[in-house]
Amino acid sequence: MIESTHRPSQVVVDLSAIEYNIKQELARLNDEQVLFAVVKANAYGHGAIEVAKACEKAGATGFCVSNLDEALELRSAGLTLPILVLSYVSTNYLDLAISQTISLTAPSLDWLKEAEDYLTQTTLTNPLSVHLKIDTGMGRIGLRDDDEMVQAKELFVLSNHMTLDGIFTHFSCADTKDTSYFELQQQRFTRAMDIFSDLEIPYIHTSNSATALWHDAWNSNMIRFGDALYGLNPSGKTLKLPYELKPALSLTTELIHVKQVSAGEKIGYGATYTAEKEEWIGTLPIGYADGLIRKFQGYHVIIDGEYAEIVGRVCMDQCMIRLSKRYAVGTPVTIFGKNGELENTLDDAAEFIDTINYEIICGLTDRLPRYYLNERINN
Ligand SMILES: *Cc1c(COP(=O)(O)O)cnc(C)c1O
Repeated sequence: MIESTHRPSQVVVDLSAIEYNIKQELARLNDEQVLFAVVKANAYGHGAIEVAKACEKAGATGFCVSNLDEALELRSAGLTLPILVLSYVSTNYLDLAISQTISLTAPSLDWLKEAEDYLTQTTLTNPLSVHLKIDTGMGRIGLRDDDEMVQAKELFVLSNHMTLDGIFTHFSCADTKDTSYFELQQQRFTRAMDIFSDLEIPYIHTSNSATALWHDAWNSNMIRFGDALYGLNPSGKTLKLPYELKPALSLTTELIHVKQVSAGEKIGYGATYTAEKEEWIGTLPIGYADGLIRKFQGYHVIIDGEYAEIVGRVCMDQCMIRLSKRYAVGTPVTIFGKNGELENTLDDAAEFIDTINYEIICGLTDRLPRYYLNERINN
């Protein structure tokens, strides 16, 4: 999809907020702990390269992404910090990972064996950097059986082609009030670590944002800091943040058309909205093809420091709002973020469409240009 820059709808990212959030977290870590910034999925919709540069400036030690292409994007942009791919990469691409110094996650014993076979047949001189994933209860990827962990360990001990640079797990319930499942996963990871206790492994990491915020980055000398670095609360509205975070992302647009309609007139596909009296209706150049999904019908955007409801169905490229009075075409409108005294938080928006803040920001499509504030602030 082509980025639409000749249309007044955009994602605005305040890079100083990202730097602030990272510094806040770094201040809580001890001397042995480092922070890897999770910039997968185009930095949760914020723009991977700009965000990664801001994270590096703020003191991140490395980056986590979800696939090889995302890692290569960072390398192509000239970023040289360590990069870990968190999810599966086919062993067909190991040479690419090695040549670009990208660390990969071993999701299974089979993958490790395949990787060893592949590397044995090539003439590459540098070893592949591997982080071994332990599935302690997320049920996604990773080794689960003690026996497989023992075999994996032996494989690393014997291999000249791979180095075990990290061992890690991922918690599924670090952001909930009930900590019993978190504790079960802790116990399983502690047991797994016993198996590897006689190896020197540079990075042990268990902490996503939620674990870092609410569980003291349990058993980690590296944290994988994602949602919170964007200034968002990984629990939504469930748990209170231990320190202030500043949301970095705003979604803004402006009125492209304004008209008055009489009582009884209908708005949008399906004619689902009927004006109750004479009403001012504004049109916004943004719709579900931008990630403003149809469930946002009835949500309030902010114009001139007041709320205005999205009326009628959200279209692919446009939507309509009810205005309190006549506003000029070109008047700015805030969908997410601050406008005057009001703020639409991503958690309010997530609550409105029954999802989590992550899904909204990742859903903002490439059609929206990303603009950056405070790119060159040195604080
Ligand atoms: C996405 C992801 C993270 C980051 O999670 P946040 O909740 O955004 O901090 C950390 N680790 C893994 C394995 C992930 O997939």
